[in-house]
Amino acid sequence: MGEPPKINLLDLDIKGMENLAVELGGKPFHGRNLLKWIHKHGVTDFEQMTDLSKSLRESLQDKAEIVIPEIVFEQPSLDGTTKWVLELADGQRIETVSIPDGDRTTICVSSQVGCALDCSFCSTAQQGFNRNLTTGEIIGQVWQATRELGQPPSNVVMMGMGEPLANFDAVVRAMDLMMEDLAYMISKTRVTLSTSGVVPALNRLRQVSDVSLAVSLHAPENELRNELVPINQKYPLEELIPACKDYVARDKRRKVTWEYVMLDGVNDSISHAKALIRLLEGVPSKVNLIPFNPFPGTRYKTSSPERVDAFRERLMRAGIITITRKTRGDDIDAACGQLVGKVRDRSRRQLRRDNSTGVVHS
Ligand code: SAH
Repeated sequence: MGEPPKINLLDLDIKGMENLAVELGGKPFHGRNLLKWIHKHGVTDFEQMTDLSKSLRESLQDKAEIVIPEIVFEQPSLDGTTKWVLELADGQRIETVSIPDGDRTTICVSSQVGCALDCSFCSTAQQGFNRNLTTGEIIGQVWQATRELGQPPSNVVMMGMGEPLANFDAVVRAMDLMMEDLAYMISKTRVTLSTSGVVPALNRLRQVSDVSLAVSLHAPENELRNELVPINQKYPLEELIPACKDYVARDKRRKVTWEYVMLDGVNDSISHAKALIRLLEGVPSKVNLIPFNPFPGTRYKTSSPERVDAFRERLMRAGIITITRKTRGDDIDAACGQLVGKVRDRSRRQLRRDNSTGVVHS
């Protein structure tokens, strides 16, 4: 029998840190200090945590460790978007994207390695599902981004690889750390969970969290949505829409952000827009139209800007706030649904692109 495995402190929330400090002979506030050192100051060397006693630091050295996913690849895009490929302790790789916009920076965070949900227009789906990320691996993406940016990101969207509600506990704990004053202090209106619509988990989320909600809708009626977002066969619109309405009902200022990928000739006609208006009646809503990002092997095409505009106009006329999401980072395959783990292929492709664009990578 060897030593028990060390606790990864990146997996612990504030309560967990307090308990650990007490277990090791300290006080709860030592746990809070520890949390602050790690997340606010980015310090991972116990020796530097000068407000913890020497004996507590020694016990930590003995029992605990701080395991952070390592950035193995950084790919800047011409529009300022940066993709980081992070390697986890078991060698798996995930992607985190940083999207600057004026004085704000949004980080797009992954929740799983791959995804099990098989949405027909998403390239992560083609990779299949590998495993859930731990809390440490999720918050570790924010830890790394904070160090890279020199400050915490202003916004986090759980819109990277994976279905966050299929990895409920780890995702909720990581989002709590994002909002925690002693850690990243991001406001709850600026932490957004995006889901394809796992209704029971969404109902649970309402009980334990207050983050902003985005839902991958993509179709205004069940038949089409069954095809595009197959989890709709299990949780159809007549269950999804009321669950979303309930989620935002706590706060009059809240709205559901509906993500709607514009697929040419599939879901982008005026009659789809009308059906969408009917569907969202009485639900505080914002619609995000996302031009489809094509990837090799896909059967879909991007709607023309004219069709996107006409769709948007129709929704706006019905009083629904609608924005067309700018496609960002598409020259580095960091756009929505393109976060695939095939890093080796990608770096080869990247080399070619570097030669042609003259962008220099370290
Ligand atoms: N699984 C979660 C988180 C992914 S978020 C969810 O489904 O919400 C990423 C967003 O990009 C989702 O709305 C997803 O449906 C959308 N998306 C996926 N593939 C895309 C593509 N090829 N082009 C445009 N948007 C895409």
